[in-house]
Amino acid sequence: MTRIGVLALQGDFAEHINVLSRIDVDPREVRLLKDLEGLDGLIIPGGESTTISRLMAEFGLLQPLRDMARSDFPIWGTCAGMIVLAKQASDLTLPTIAAMDIEVERNAYGRQLDSFEAELAVPELGEEPFRAVFIRAPVVRDVHPPAEVIARLEDGAPVVVRQGRLLATSFHPELTDDPRLHRYFVELATEDKKAVVE
Ligand code: GLN
Repeated sequence: MTRIGVLALQGDFAEHINVLSRIDVDPREVRLLKDLEGLDGLIIPGGESTTISRLMAEFGLLQPLRDMARSDFPIWGTCAGMIVLAKQASDLTLPTIAAMDIEVERNAYGRQLDSFEAELAVPELGEEPFRAVFIRAPVVRDVHPPAEVIARLEDGAPVVVRQGRLLATSFHPELTDDPRLHRYFVELATEDKKAVVE
């Protein structure tokens, strides 16, 4: 069974674990270096990117995760997780994983839009729109190749970005009932293995 870890230092990791356990994945909470062993992929949840970054360093996970992200290990960051994957994040001076060629601005949707929902067209997931919940979400200001945009808001703002086997979403797919993005990440994480088996 595919083993997906969820970084469980802070934030809404429990909700990700819930979704993963509903789609036939073996989910693991990751807090220590040894928890990274044997994983097929890792999710970094929403929460506070400053706290998550500080704790990654304190728990000795920062450098290993930086190395893994640069050697094609699948990592998906949601909201704060997107911020710690971005090479540039406004207003965040702590070291992060910084592996995706995107520039994000924290808490940039403005006060009235602190939290909002949107029906997203995500062609990779099929016809049905994906209901995306945004909570003090980062705005993606720039996407540089090889990073590519997978989905945008109606105004054109990128909200799902992929770079190889790194994935980032500025919203919270673990807070709705739709497991399609989790399935998409599991496929991304296991693609090569499947190709070998086929
Ligand atoms: N605003 C948070 C940050 O900057 C992210 C919010 C979230 O993950 N829901 O880290």
